[in-house]
This record gives sequence, structure tokens and C-alpha cells, in this order.
Amino acid sequence: MQSWPATRLSDGAKLLSAEQMQVDAMTTLLVTHPACVEHDPGYGHPEAPARLSAILAALREPEFAGLVRREAPLGKEDDIARVHGKSYADSVMARVPQSGHAALDADTILSPGSGQAALRAVGAVVSAVDAVLAGEAQNAFCAIRPPGHHAEPGHAMGFCLFNSIAVAARHAQAAHGINRVAIVDFDVHHGNGTQAVAERDPTLFFASSHQYPLYPGTGGADETGAGNVVNVPLPSGTEGARFRRAFEDRILPALDAFAPDLVLVSAGFDAHRADPLAGLELEEEDFGWVTTRLAEAARRHARGRLVSVLEGGYDLKALAGSAAAHVSELMRAS
Ligand SMILES: [Zn+2]
Repeated sequence: MQSWPATRLSDGAKLLSAEQMQVDAMTTLLVTHPACVEHDPGYGHPEAPARLSAILAALREPEFAGLVRREAPLGKEDDIARVHGKSYADSVMARVPQSGHAALDADTILSPGSGQAALRAVGAVVSAVDAVLAGEAQNAFCAIRPPGHHAEPGHAMGFCLFNSIAVAARHAQAAHGINRVAIVDFDVHHGNGTQAVAERDPTLFFASSHQYPLYPGTGGADETGAGNVVNVPLPSGTEGARFRRAFEDRILPALDAFAPDLVLVSAGFDAHRADPLAGLELEEEDFGWVTTRLAEAARRHARGRLVSVLEGGYDLKALAGSAAAHVSELMRAS
């Protein structure tokens, strides 16, 4: 039985004792960087700097004192090139404006701080993979923006510049000799960019639950890659019980069958019922639940090694509470 309410942010009376915290929370890593707040797509854009500020404020609460906190290094072009090819990073960086904004498409807007933010986002996931695979941390949460899962190998889109989660997977394989990497994406939007990287490579596994139809339009159940892709499209209005069944019936058994050496999570929190961009009806507890199931799978196959990366989530209160629920369960699993 999971005792989720014991660590609810709003319930100060039930915080873990300092002693428990030491035991439970020693080895969850939080990686972020102030530059990730400096990417600003402009007034009224949902992928706003305040998203990250809200999450980091929540993670300053006493129950998160046990997190090991690290500042992200700058990502390297070689890391990006493993997913996007040699010239892609240069072509994105060349579009970063000196002032004002530059649009890569109708949704994907650059500001002067966007290049550094995107490089720190890549550096965050690479350093988190390094730390988890070195045994310095059991698992990690990368609180970064811009998000990444819509970015295809040759194509920025959907608020995303570099596909950080795919970069993490390729780095684990190239730099650490990890063979099988699973990426599970519970953002409300389909991770088309990540699927594009994984779908022809049986050393990768990609599973996604998402509202369908919805942006970006991909993610039908018939998209199965090389037998290593599991898409679970969910209709608008789907609540937590059906979301959990999707994981129990489809995603978790496939993840077990794949038997990953490392579990990566595209953690978007825009399937929350308060989110303005989509119509699923999840609660904070559902994000805690799925986190625990994924941590258990990582424990079964990958010695608990799990790296989670922030994707979407656009209602600030729901985003902060859901990310807190997610990190809380990562700490409990570590
Ligand atoms: Zn999303």
C-alpha cells in the first residue's frame, strides 16, 4: 500500500521526520540551472519562466531538504549531435536573437536566453545520467526548460529545441555502454520527437500515454515502431482510474518485457485536470502513483536507475503540486 498523504506539501503535520528523511531521501538528485528561467517565449506564452520558478519553490519545502541539488553544466554539441546530427545545434543557436523574439514556428519562440537555457537542459540530463550510472544517486529529476519531447532529429517544434530525453538515452549508451534504455512519457501530448528517435532502434523502448486526438497529432495505438513503441491514446475527459489501467494493462507489462538497463521518464504534468492546454482529468496523486510504478520497474530491471526530465505542465499550482508529488515518490523509492 502506498501512503501518499504522508508527504503532501500542504500537510505540514505529516512531514517525514529528519531521521526518516536521511534514510528515504539521500539519493534523489535534483538538477537545474538559473539559465533555464531566462528562456522567455514572451507574454502570454504558456511555456513561461514562472513554470520552473513554481516547481523550484515547491521543492524548497522542508520535506525536500534531503534532495541532492546540482547545477547543470553546459551541454556539449557532441551530446546533441547523437540525436540531431552535427549541424543542428548550430542552426538553432544561430536563430537565437540578440533582443526581442525569433519564431521557429507558431509555438516555438526564442528569446536571447533560449540558447543557454537549452544547452543547460541538455547538460542537466547528461549529468543526471552520469550521476545515476556512477551510483552517486539512485534516481534524478531534471527541472529544466525548454522541454524537449516534441523536438525531432532535424526539427524544433512544440516549444522544444533539443530532445533532452533522447540525448540522455544516447549518452547512456555511448558514454556508459548501457544497452537497453526505456523512455516512458506521461506528458498529455504525444512525444513525437522521442518516438522518431526510438522507433527504428530495438535497443530503445518508448511508451507514451497521451490525450488523443491532440497536438501534435501522432501517437495512435497502431504506431508500434520496431515492436518497441507502445502508444496509449486516451480520450479527453479521461480520469485517473483509466490512466492507471492504461499503465497496468499496456505500458508496465511492455516495460517489464523490454527489461531496461536504465529508465528515463518524460515527466509532463499537463494531464492534470487544471491544465489549460488539454482535457485529461488527472490529480496530483495520479502522478505520484505512476512515479512509484516506474520506480518499481526500474528496481526490478535496472537496479533502480531512473532519470526523470520535466516536459509540459501549464497550470502553475497544478504543475508545482504534481512535480512535488513526483519528486516525493522518487525520494521514497531511493
Ligand atoms: Zn505536453
